[in-house]
Amino acid sequence: MTNKCLTLALHGGAGAIPERNYDAEVVHMRGLVEAARDRLKAGASALDVAVETVAALEASGLYVAGRGASPNAAGRYELDASLMDGPTRRAGAVAALEGFKSPIAAARAVMEMTPHVMLAADGAAALAREAGLEAIGDPEAWFTRAARRPGGTPAGLSHGTVGCVVRDGEGRLAAATSTGGVFNKRLGRVGDTPIPGAGTWADDTVAVSCTGLGEYFIRSAAAAQVSFRMRLAGQDLASAAQATLDDIKSLGGDGGLIAVAADGTLVTPWNSRGMKRATLTAEGAIRSEVF
Ligand code: ASP
Repeated sequence: MTNKCLTLALHGGAGAIPERNYDAEVVHMRGLVEAARDRLKAGASALDVAVETVAALEASGLYVAGRGASPNAAGRYELDASLMDGPTRRAGAVAALEGFKSPIAAARAVMEMTPHVMLAADGAAALAREAGLEAIGDPEAWFTRAARRPGGTPAGLSHGTVGCVVRDGEGRLAAATSTGGVFNKRLGRVGDTPIPGAGTWADDTVAVSCTGLGEYFIRSAAAAQVSFRMRLAGQDLASAAQATLDDIKSLGGDGGLIAVAADGTLVTPWNSRGMKRATLTAEGAIRSEVF
């Protein structure tokens, strides 16, 4: 495979409100794909581009992740994130992290600075501090609560997540995902997003980032299921991704995922009401859409 095959997909969460205007998100996602394409063309690694893109999605305050996250039932902002590097299958994750601007940067610090895969709550915050990551200061001043934007209601947007999957010029795959989780979740609730194999996965076959009601994605090992269907059952990317969503649906869940395979093909299926997403195909075409 040659470096003609730069491929990327990002998402800003499954579940959208038909009457709401998503122009800002569509323009923003397109801009991020263009920036990511330029970084890949300049030789950046899949992992770097996945993390940078998710960090930009977090920082925008437009999605229910990072700055746009909503508080849990206890009024606290506990955020989850993870990343995975395909060639090495190294992974890093934080769960229920409070007080830092970029959960995905904290997840990367777990991977790079510790022998662990996941740190939670106070331990995650202690590492983020050690890594010198930027703290948010006053939560009420920092968070934009994207779910409360005019035209949308918290009830209509019950969860949200951002993610990115990348195939770089060397053929390496990577995935990164970050979330504010489910709206009004219980204190300490952790979803699929920080769990490698559930909300995020990357190996030599495929990179996957999921969005939807996390409990169902955990119960179906959704992100890894896509890979195992391809690797062990010989399914193609589209069939593996659709079968995984069908499995989630059979449990009563919904959502979507983005996935890019080693051959540079990508899919963005969902079975919820829309999914904010943008793609760069191997041929260089960019799309950004919600429904
Ligand atoms: N999967 C996320 C969670 O359950 C929410 C989402 O994707 O919207 O925490």
